[in-house]
Amino acid sequence: MTLRFSVLASGSTGNAFYIETEQQRLLVDAGLSGKKMDGLFQEINIDPSRLDGILVTHEHSDHIKGLGIFARKHQLPIYANEKTWQAMDHSLGKLTLDQKFQFDMGSVRSFGDIEVESFGVSHDAAEPMFYTFRNNGQKVALVTDLGYVSERIKKTVDDADAYIFEANHDVEMLRMGRYPWNVKRRILGDSGHVSNEDCGLALTDIITNRTKRIYLAHLSLDNNMKDLARMSVNQILTERGIEVELHDTDPAVPTPLYDVGAITERV
Ligand SMILES: [Zn+2]
Ligand SMILES: [Zn+2]
Repeated sequence: MTLRFSVLASGSTGNAFYIETEQQRLLVDAGLSGKKMDGLFQEINIDPSRLDGILVTHEHSDHIKGLGIFARKHQLPIYANEKTWQAMDHSLGKLTLDQKFQFDMGSVRSFGDIEVESFGVSHDAAEPMFYTFRNNGQKVALVTDLGYVSERIKKTVDDADAYIFEANHDVEMLRMGRYPWNVKRRILGDSGHVSNEDCGLALTDIITNRTKRIYLAHLSLDNNMKDLARMSVNQILTERGIEVELHDTDPAVPTPLYDVGAITERV
């Protein structure tokens, strides 16, 4: 038994994350069009109609754009907290009652053999929350779309085998860039997004010997670059003697399915 996952798409143009065991298949967010969502699943060779459910993090369009149409087409149940349901319901189109489920912030829920814990984040949405996934002693944490990484969050996500962690922007690129000041202020603020540097600093507090991989996620197209994000985070980690594999994510290309239980070189 083992957890396997793929970051299907990541960034402000749309987010989707897939995680599975032998028995269970879950999608988190469907932030690209229904057609593109189907294409992403095709690329990882998974039939979307075999999904067991879709978990939603928050109602921003880069997380729910294709949600209604994708859930209808493949007859899938959707799980979100009450405030997120209120905020997104009108934009999803017609769903049947047996497709709508409540998953409260700060709670644990079992989906077959995957135990999912939700935790709140500071972000400018109704009640944004992200998730950790546990199976058979393994743990994967998904952490994007947050203004800062609180001590509470660090405790919830620490000691995972793998992280999908936000490295949204390079602070200098954002400051010098073309965004209007109010947008810059939003991104830099406590309810915005985590910078490369803050990502590296938070990771130094939460990763342990058990951590094998970090996927840098939700990179800004205008205010970041894959190389820069990897370099900045790597520098902070190496300065503190931490060695871990850093991986890119992409707005349109899924990462290959990663088997968390796979034996790696690392001792
Ligand atoms: Zn987002
Ligand atoms: Zn968001």
